[in-house]
Amino acid sequence: MSAQNPIFIPGPTNIPDVLRKAVDMPTIDHRSPLFGDILHPALDGVKKVLKSERAEIFVFPSTGTGGWETAITNLLSANDTVLASRNGMFSHRWIDMCQRHGLNVQVVMQDWGEGIPAERFEEILTADTAHEIKAVLATHNETATGVRSDIAAVRRALDNAKHPALLLVDGVSSIGCYDFRMDEWGIDVAVTGSQKGFMLPPGLAIVGFSPKALAAVESANLPRTFFDIRDMAKGYAANGYPYTPPIGLLNGLRVATGMLLDEKLENVFARHHRIAEGVRKAVSAWGMTLCAARPELYSDSVSAIRTPVGFDANRIVAHAMNAYGVAFGTGLGDVAGKVFRIGHLGSLTDAMTLSGIATAEMVMVDLGLPVKLGSGVAAAQEHYRQGMSGAHKKAA
Ligand SMILES: *Cc1c(COP(=O)(O)O)cnc(C)c1O
Repeated sequence: MSAQNPIFIPGPTNIPDVLRKAVDMPTIDHRSPLFGDILHPALDGVKKVLKSERAEIFVFPSTGTGGWETAITNLLSANDTVLASRNGMFSHRWIDMCQRHGLNVQVVMQDWGEGIPAERFEEILTADTAHEIKAVLATHNETATGVRSDIAAVRRALDNAKHPALLLVDGVSSIGCYDFRMDEWGIDVAVTGSQKGFMLPPGLAIVGFSPKALAAVESANLPRTFFDIRDMAKGYAANGYPYTPPIGLLNGLRVATGMLLDEKLENVFARHHRIAEGVRKAVSAWGMTLCAARPELYSDSVSAIRTPVGFDANRIVAHAMNAYGVAFGTGLGDVAGKVFRIGHLGSLTDAMTLSGIATAEMVMVDLGLPVKLGSGVAAAQEHYRQGMSGAHKKAA
């Protein structure tokens, strides 16, 4: 395979050269002030990307999954009840983690392709007059199905029910890609990792805790050591970590947040939206449909594309790699073999995305699917011609 090709899996994402260089660092003393000059700007940058004034940011050597564990072990106690919907592989795995920690998960089953049912949450929360539910878990972007849920609506469900449960949000494949408002949406914990919207190699769990969440830490009794945010907070106060920090990745995070903020978050989101729309136009030109049930659920970071019944979608992913050295995402869990995924998050341009669309077409034609070469590319080209600022109009 060629490492020159961009990848179209929904994480890890393409790493810009400037970030590859930023993570490649000589060893520095992580107990010296030099380290503080990396750590604090990285934490500040994350806070801005989360659109939070109030959150405290903690970054662990781990991955997004460790971020889930940080959220639940610091805030909950054995036998606590939490509310979550299962609408894809990632929401499923977070639920499974809660159950393995001895939490009682009230699961709302949703068809894969649907989002979080905020109205149903409101009914459940309203009925819970004893406030047994301690936390609501929400996966903002279901990476397995390409579904974006409405976190503001989940917040309204809690508010309408006048329910005090904490709101824990998995933003692993939305943060740094599309609109995410930690303070405005009353999010108590935001979770992400380094290898999706932040365009870095895997290796960091990144979490933000609201003041309300910070206040709940002392009374939570689930066992925690490595992920105890109290130890981490003590470390930060002394410019350090409770253990050896991944300095190169943290330096990468400092530079990555700077890149996103320099581009301006609204432009980052507009770029993801434009690129995603081009992919969606290609999908409809192919006569295919998305796993996401309705346009308001369409994700701007990943598209899961349904293949014809009886056709194994994994063949597309395997053939793309074998024949063209291009990576797409397989279907996971309940939709394994039924969808393939085009990841369009992180460091991507319109032109890079066109190469992925073109490759997907060659693959599908090779495998005998009724797709016309160039059809999706043309549809996406028409969309991308508007450019980043309507450039074709200026040229004309
Ligand atoms: C990738 C992903 C995760 C898991 O992150 P890891 O870094 O692989 O542990 C969790 N949630 C969502 C929505 C994801 O996309």
